[in-house]
Amino acid sequence: MTTGVETFEFQVEARQLLQLMIHSIYSNKDVFLRELISNASDALDKLRLEALRDASLEADTSDLHIALEVDKERRTLTVRDNGIGMSHDEVVQLIGTIANSGTATFLKELRDSKDAAASQDLIGQFGVGFYSSFMVADEVTLLTRRAGESQGTRWVSSGEGTYTIEEVDDAPQGTAVTLRLKPEDTEDHLYDYTSPWKIREIVKRYSDFITWPIKMAAETADRAEEPDESDDSAPELETVNSMKALWARSKDEVTDDEYHEFYKHISHDWNNPLETIRLQAEGTFEYQSLLFIPSQAPRDLFMQDRKRGVQLYVKRVFIMDDCEALMPEYLRFVKGVVDAADLSLNVSRETLQQDRQIQLMRRRLVKKVLSTVKDMMSGNPEQYATFWKEFGRVLKEGLLGDFENRDTILEVCSFASTHDAEEPTSLRSYVERMREGQQNIYYMTGESRSIIESSPHMEAFQAKGLEVLLLTDPIDELWVDAVPEFDGKQLRSIAKGQVDLDSEEEKNEEAEAEREQRQKDFADLLSWMTTTLGDHVKEVRLSSRLTTSPACIVGDTHDVTPALENIYRAMGQHVPETKRILELNPTHPLVSGLRTAHGERGDDPGLADTAELLHGMALLAEGGELRDPSRFIKLVAGRLEQTL
Ligand code: ADP
Repeated sequence: MTTGVETFEFQVEARQLLQLMIHSIYSNKDVFLRELISNASDALDKLRLEALRDASLEADTSDLHIALEVDKERRTLTVRDNGIGMSHDEVVQLIGTIANSGTATFLKELRDSKDAAASQDLIGQFGVGFYSSFMVADEVTLLTRRAGESQGTRWVSSGEGTYTIEEVDDAPQGTAVTLRLKPEDTEDHLYDYTSPWKIREIVKRYSDFITWPIKMAAETADRAEEPDESDDSAPELETVNSMKALWARSKDEVTDDEYHEFYKHISHDWNNPLETIRLQAEGTFEYQSLLFIPSQAPRDLFMQDRKRGVQLYVKRVFIMDDCEALMPEYLRFVKGVVDAADLSLNVSRETLQQDRQIQLMRRRLVKKVLSTVKDMMSGNPEQYATFWKEFGRVLKEGLLGDFENRDTILEVCSFASTHDAEEPTSLRSYVERMREGQQNIYYMTGESRSIIESSPHMEAFQAKGLEVLLLTDPIDELWVDAVPEFDGKQLRSIAKGQVDLDSEEEKNEEAEAEREQRQKDFADLLSWMTTTLGDHVKEVRLSSRLTTSPACIVGDTHDVTPALENIYRAMGQHVPETKRILELNPTHPLVSGLRTAHGERGDDPGLADTAELLHGMALLAEGGELRDPSRFIKLVAGRLEQTL
């Protein structure tokens, strides 16, 4: 008995993705099977876990497996599991919509990319799971019953906008996905998914390590040649995968290809990982771990609902995805598996956080990941460059929270620098290049390389040939405040505090006398300007960091920078505005001219305007924002008029 067929529309994003799959130019269509087997394997994991935790669950867990069935005549391929299954509502929720927050961005990028190879690449990065069946099928039927429930659900769609759902009484527990395969491509006989031989080959290649048996009808000679319709005895099934947990095998038993396929299975990424990290701990507390660094950052790396990528197993039994107790937030891009021998199968997320063994494991895993990056840096600079481009911004978050590993994190960071226009530098190399007598590592934060490079603060450093790190990530504003030094050298912002770049020889009596004289000469101007600009700055003083610009704005050594103020405000915190310091270049004609004019005319309102213009120019020069742009423009226009 059925209650009739209901028709539903796919969610907009789901529809767009399906269109992509139907017209897919993705060259490696074989991967659809990996995706379906991956889902089936997850469903078996979930059932085993639920049965462990809930003894009253009425489910059959005696022969958990995946079965693949080929029907040459009807041109169908079925992937069947007797796992957790889905309820009616779950089918609508999980199969009809896409929950991943990166989807919208992904689809937009895909639409924007004109070039076919690039969009292939994007599909690969995204991994589309169940929907990839529509690359090879023109109709997909999913028959499912959730373990413990009596009612089953049949879902059917050709992927074109709608799907139907129907209640079914006699569905077996678990899920069967049946693909009606597209007519064979006459030009390209490379794939024939009705060939049991081809299916076996794909399973071996992509899913061999799946820890559940994947079964197919045994290939007896006559059955392979001519399937006997009248023979209704169940075909003999044989397991086609080796089922070996890769992380438990010794290194030389596993090929790179096998590692890569395993990575794709757990990460839903279609590309190879950048690096594979193995760790097998023996002794009283035994665990094995297989971790991967992806070759590309996932789209949701900076989104709110992003997940961490490490799965926890206990003695080969899958326990949970996204095990945040095993990896800190700043290594959330690391994917993989940790299998512990001595944990209880009943661990929960809450108890894990407190568990001492887990804490020890986490410490060890973090150190291992960081040392792998360090090895990359020295052993394979190209690979490291990719790593840094994709994950550097996230890794730097560790400088804020992980005190224990701060030095190692600093070692593996790299930064843009005035030393080289293209290549970033490590702090270690910076220190090696430091001038004799140079005490500090100089940096400046800002919005972009070009803004920082042309900011007046750079002038004296350029003149003296001192290297400055150019920090342009928002996170840089935060960590520089928290990290005082590297290798005994102070980290110093060139836009804060006083700078004294003169060498010992340059600090002779003559120079000192000259400096004192200048202070005297400018004392009046400075105190007048400090009062006149009192609403905007806390002090006006002479600068030793300018060579060509008339003025610049600096902060006190421990002041919050304007960019950091903005970050805090964006996070909803109330921050009072910090007044900064205006520094003047006494050798600039505008500044020396202003001094003379002030000496002669005192409190002339025109001079106050000039002071205000100087301040505005200094703000603009560092890429800052004027408080009242229209007033500034009026003043500039007035001055320009006078020159005509
Ligand atoms: P993903 O696997 O990346 O989450 P899919 O589109 O492949 O995306 O699947 C969406 C969801 O549908 C899965 O997360 C799972 O909850 C459910 N699902 C898919 N296949 C099965 C299956 N064979 N058994 C139970 N649930 C499944």
